[in-house]
Amino acid sequence: MRPITNRINTDSLISEIRVLRSKQQARHILVAGGAGFLGSHLCERLLKLGHTVICVDNFSTGLERNISHLRDFKRFSVIRHDVVDPIDIEVDEIYNLACPASPPHYQADPVHTMKTSVFGALNLLELAACTGARIFQASTSEVYGDPLVHPQVESYWGNVNPFGPRSCYDEGKRSAETLFFDFHQRHDVEIKVARIFNTYGPNMRPDDGRVVSNFIVQALKGQDITIYGDGSQTRSFCFVDDLIEGFQQLMATEPSFTGPVNLGNPGEFTILELAEQVIKLTGSRSKMIRKPLPTDDPQQRRPDISLAQSKLGWQPLVPLSTGLERTICYFDRLLTVEAHEWVGTA
Ligand code: NAD
Ligand code: UDP
Repeated sequence: MRPITNRINTDSLISEIRVLRSKQQARHILVAGGAGFLGSHLCERLLKLGHTVICVDNFSTGLERNISHLRDFKRFSVIRHDVVDPIDIEVDEIYNLACPASPPHYQADPVHTMKTSVFGALNLLELAACTGARIFQASTSEVYGDPLVHPQVESYWGNVNPFGPRSCYDEGKRSAETLFFDFHQRHDVEIKVARIFNTYGPNMRPDDGRVVSNFIVQALKGQDITIYGDGSQTRSFCFVDDLIEGFQQLMATEPSFTGPVNLGNPGEFTILELAEQVIKLTGSRSKMIRKPLPTDDPQQRRPDISLAQSKLGWQPLVPLSTGLERTICYFDRLLTVEAHEWVGTA
């Protein structure tokens, strides 16, 4: 890894590179976490726009199946790598999505989750500083914790437990934001920080553990739908295509716009309402059962997206029912294929 101090005399060169790149149509783009749910959609979108995409992933929650169809593109390559360790590649843009996002997955190895957020951000920011690349951070609504301000605006500092079961993720992402802004201020790195609210869609794992995939898989299999707590807690669910559009629009903003900016769908639903919609759309006969509410589970969450609307001209377009239908289709097909494969090997 080139030490960041090497850059001190190369600032004018980096500025020239940036001017040349801004005129360049097709870019070399690193997507860390590119085999995951959001990353695989992002890689596909960038390839279809004509860019060269390097997917960097340790495949801890990411899947080969999410990206196998992209291997037909000559401009697509995959590097199996853990972002906790430095990486040195010549790139024009970086998207940092590498981090498990589902509570059961990020809580499975909390120390590694924290290292992924902090060392991952540090390593990719150093790469951005050395190459002059613009860098995007997939931050999260979890930086607001269990919010006392509703809906959540970017100026709200949050209500986060520093040592609970969610802290490795929440505090890791908060530290990553700190690093992003320090590199921007001290090393003139062009940063774009998105605070992503609950997003769902195809390419989630059936065993992901988040609420939308759990409910759909349970409904399709005729299993009980697991409501944690009394189901009165709320979330705002964004369909993946809308979110990826928001990433593109944020990345295309002028260099002085750094964020943080909320990206999410402001439609707010209780978990019970979500379960009812899934049961209706799948025609399932599953019944709802209660399970204990996880510790520190936020009671309510809804993004204020005024900043995204004014700065990016972005807002989500896909209603929950439409997004759920598309996601149900995906899981229906996936579970059918998996059942056939299982019969084939039995
Ligand atoms: P995901 O778990 O499907 O994808 C994460 C990807 O990162 C996986 O491919 C995984 O293998 C990879 N990864 C994890 N740790 C890594 C490491 N140390 N080195 C290299 N690769 C690593 O999750 P997702 O929903 O696609 O989330 C992507 C990003 O967006 C995450 O950073 C997450 O925090 C953020 N985010 C997502 C949501 C959402 O609702 N989907 C909401 C807020 C923030
Ligand atoms: N949840 C639930 N049943 C499940 C999975 C999750 O009731 O099978 C609840 C969970 O307690 C939380 C909400 O759904 O209140 C969203 O959970 P998820 O893990 O999807 O995301 P996060 O809590 O990180 O927003």
